[in-house]
Amino acid sequence: RKMPNTQSVKFARVPHPSPLPAAKRAELLKNPGFGRVFTDHMVTIHYSDAEGWHDAKIEPRAPIPMDPAAAVLHYAQEIFEGLKAYRTADGGATLFRPEENARRFQQSAKRLAMPILPESVFLEACDLLVSTDRAWIPDGDGSLYLRPFMFANENFLGVKPSSGYLFMVIASSVGSYFKTDAPAVSVWVSTEYTRAAPGGTGAAKCGGNYAASLLAQAEATKHGCDQVVFLDAVEQRWIEELGGMNVFFVFDDGSLSTPPLGGTILPGITRSSLITLAKDKGIKVREERYSIDQWRTDAGTGRLREAFACGTAAVVTPIGTVRSKDGEFKIGNGGSGAKTEELKAALVGIQRSRAPDPHGWIHKV
Ligand code: PMP
Repeated sequence: RKMPNTQSVKFARVPHPSPLPAAKRAELLKNPGFGRVFTDHMVTIHYSDAEGWHDAKIEPRAPIPMDPAAAVLHYAQEIFEGLKAYRTADGGATLFRPEENARRFQQSAKRLAMPILPESVFLEACDLLVSTDRAWIPDGDGSLYLRPFMFANENFLGVKPSSGYLFMVIASSVGSYFKTDAPAVSVWVSTEYTRAAPGGTGAAKCGGNYAASLLAQAEATKHGCDQVVFLDAVEQRWIEELGGMNVFFVFDDGSLSTPPLGGTILPGITRSSLITLAKDKGIKVREERYSIDQWRTDAGTGRLREAFACGTAAVVTPIGTVRSKDGEFKIGNGGSGAKTEELKAALVGIQRSRAPDPHGWIHKV
């Protein structure tokens, strides 16, 4: 397969003949929740081994015809990304570190034996959709969540990398990820299921990882928890990450720790940004393994003061309660903590262009 890493594409523009009327859109944007309100347009780009990337379009959002033998439906050759567009005070729109999403998408593609989409094409696709559907960015705390994805669409039942793919970007107007009004979320430690094993696909953002997490997430819900925490697959001891978020711990000496990237967890862009922001503030950050037993012990003695989850969708969300088959324990007072709030404010300030952007993370659309 040729890997057209620098190939450029030209986007055809097909405007929606009847976009949703502004009054109806305003109604939907009042309380969008997460991932159920979609904009008028979508991006599609085709790939074939013979032609490379071709037939790029921004067009009205619509169902996509698919043959029942399409490879993705059988062998799950699919990857995706998630990033947010924010409305700025001057009426413009920005993306937060979209180059990082483009690069992670390339890493995910490699792991799933899929073609590499050039970074510039990924960025242009995101920019085009945001500028076209800019009116769908909610005011206030909301944002426009972009979902770039790619799947195998060769009609063939043999197990092999597909010869054809479709890359798409859709966009969803979103408010906050968690439905709860509680100051902190509760998490369930899964000891029955693991998410990713060494050599597996844990570091890739592929649909299969999430399919495999659903039963554990359902178990978390059954136990009254908002999210599941996965332990490592080898020793079932080290904390890895949540179903869709990375995790940080805050200690009594003011330092932070977070599980190291080792191929079994997703290299979160929020995680990497928070490490940088913490270091900017002179806060010590360790990327080191932390066990569930140590977490329980440290929460009991008070050595551990705070814990939080982080990701594009959840931003920074304090963890108040940890539950497992061995019982439950609280973190701090069970609500949020000062360090969590300080880091969240620093991140959100940059993301929403309310604070200076010393690292050049803001991409103007
Ligand atoms: N871990 C998993 C499993 C995720 O799905 C996500 C969301 N992409 C994250 C961590 C956080 O990554 P990011 O900060 O890049 O959104």
